[in-house]
Amino acid sequence: MAELNVKQLADVVDVPVERLLQQMNAAGLGHGAESDSVSEDEKQTLLGFLKRSHGDAEESAQPRRITLSRKTTSTLKVGGSRKTVNVEVRKKRTYVKREEMSPEERAAEEAANKAEEDARQRAEAEVADKRNAVEAEKIKVEDDKRRADEAATQAAKEAQIKSEQGSKASAKALPVKKEAPAAKKDAPKRKGAPTTDAARTARPARRGTGVKRGQGFDPSYNERRLKAPKRQKLKAPSQLQQSFERPTAAVVHDVPVPEAISVSDLAKLMTIKAADIIKVMFKMGAPATINQILDQDTALLVVEEMGHKGHVADESSIEDRVLEDIDYQGSEEARAPVVTVMGHVDHGKTSLLDHIRKTRVTAGESGGITQHIGAYHVETGHGMISFLDTPGHAAFTAMRARGAQATDIVILVVAADDGVMPQTIEAIQHARAAGVPIVVAVNKIDKEGVDLDRVKNELVAKEVVPEEWGGDVPFIPVSAKTGEGIDALLDAVLLQSEMLELTAVPGAPAKGVVVESRLDKGRGAVSTLLVQNGTLCAGDIVLAGQNYGRVRAMLDESGRPINTAGPSIPVEILGLDGTPDAGDEFTVVADEKKAREVANFRQGKFKEIKLARQQAAKLDNLFANMGANKVSVLNIVLKTDVRGD
Ligand code: GDP
Repeated sequence: MAELNVKQLADVVDVPVERLLQQMNAAGLGHGAESDSVSEDEKQTLLGFLKRSHGDAEESAQPRRITLSRKTTSTLKVGGSRKTVNVEVRKKRTYVKREEMSPEERAAEEAANKAEEDARQRAEAEVADKRNAVEAEKIKVEDDKRRADEAATQAAKEAQIKSEQGSKASAKALPVKKEAPAAKKDAPKRKGAPTTDAARTARPARRGTGVKRGQGFDPSYNERRLKAPKRQKLKAPSQLQQSFERPTAAVVHDVPVPEAISVSDLAKLMTIKAADIIKVMFKMGAPATINQILDQDTALLVVEEMGHKGHVADESSIEDRVLEDIDYQGSEEARAPVVTVMGHVDHGKTSLLDHIRKTRVTAGESGGITQHIGAYHVETGHGMISFLDTPGHAAFTAMRARGAQATDIVILVVAADDGVMPQTIEAIQHARAAGVPIVVAVNKIDKEGVDLDRVKNELVAKEVVPEEWGGDVPFIPVSAKTGEGIDALLDAVLLQSEMLELTAVPGAPAKGVVVESRLDKGRGAVSTLLVQNGTLCAGDIVLAGQNYGRVRAMLDESGRPINTAGPSIPVEILGLDGTPDAGDEFTVVADEKKAREVANFRQGKFKEIKLARQQAAKLDNLFANMGANKVSVLNIVLKTDVRGD
């Protein structure tokens, strides 16, 4: 570029000549007239000056940098809360726009950063050292103090023993003799020589009191040694921090209060001691014992009194919780059908079952009522079928109704010579109510002059329509006496069962239904259960209706002991705490405690409470009806036969 004079330069940069001259002079250039030439170097000098003196120019000339300083002060507590150390951390950060830095500057910057980091690390290390030193010092002081305390206690005891020895000459030798074994035990290497730190520290004190070696040994030393916390090794400061923090405010629990709860259980719910509840109740004017059952209202009052929030617990949740826990998942397998034989009395139910079982139990009947295990399974040659043998008398109607619920198929026995009778109709109603398919066995066809069509007509009138008449009920003419048609009957039953596609999970815990139960003089409660799903094993905990217990023994229908019973197998079990009702469901549960809880709940152990409620309701009713002047008297004579119905 050609050299310019001052005037030309002023024109180029568009400033007055005088101003330019002033700036040039200020920049240390000796130009005085507008005709003075300005060399390239002089131009650079002027430019540098202008950039330095001008704000914008300076900013663009210098690397852009931001410096941040931060100071944090924290307090460290050392050795509990007794000693505090203030830690001050100063941080300085300079952020520089990198591309605008020269390599030298960058190197200088990095060196400065490194030095700063080193200084920070040194400071931290110093603080940590200081803290450790304080900790160690504190532990040492405590240790010394403890030793001194122990020595003082030891000395005091020895002095006391000596004084006792001095005052009671007769008792002088006794403690020594007594104490010798203890000392020996404690210090097997040197007889009577205490080896622990505490004892060693105590030695000069003993000397001071003039007690001879082995004599003044403290008899309670062993005891104290056992009670005394073991000396801890020097732990890292972080380990010395206790994890438990004392709550600063009262903890309010939300306590679900069931219909009835024992004092101890209520205490557990509030995570307090039962004694505290007893104390509060005593103050409330209702002294209670730890096992006392409190009704809901009282329990709620106690909860509120203790400063917690109580709410009425969902009662059904006890049962749900226990039963929902059971896992019935697993591979499903086909299971045998469970069949109930129903029909009017003397139509031949027992005879039919006997024929199927090939054993005669008719002879064992007393008073016409079937007396044998209420269920059994048979291998028919066509497949396995389990039979529920529900007695056919009207007195057993309710039990039979329950039987139908545990049943997959009902065999309705109708004597061909007798036709449809009241109990036949009843049986149809039960089967219909339970949604169970019916197979009609028209029995006694061996008898002369039987009219099958009459029986069919009567059944059609009850909406039991034979297949051959366009209905869905198989009608099988049989004779329990001659065995005629029984194979066809079993085939019909198995066909129905196939259509039902009956499955169960043999690997699951057992559940099913109680067929019957009785109290045996020698064996206690004996219950016949029908396993409907899963496998029942000896030793399982069974919850059956209001009863529970561990299966002590399991017998099949012939009285043979067995260990497992799969789906559709009836078994007799021993071990329940009572006799559940026929038709009650049973379940195998994992936990005996939970089983008891549910059984107790079901038993309505807290009858007083319920009674009290009923009483209150009755009183309400009484007051409501007062003045109505309507008194109805109903005399009832109630006769009952068996329990559970
Ligand atoms: P349940 O009360 O229904 O159990 O009837 P039972 O099985 O006790 O039978 C009542 C009576 O009918 C008995 O005397 C049997 O011998 C008789 N009986 C049962 N089935 C037949 C049969 O198929 N033919 C004949 N002739 N008599 C039968």
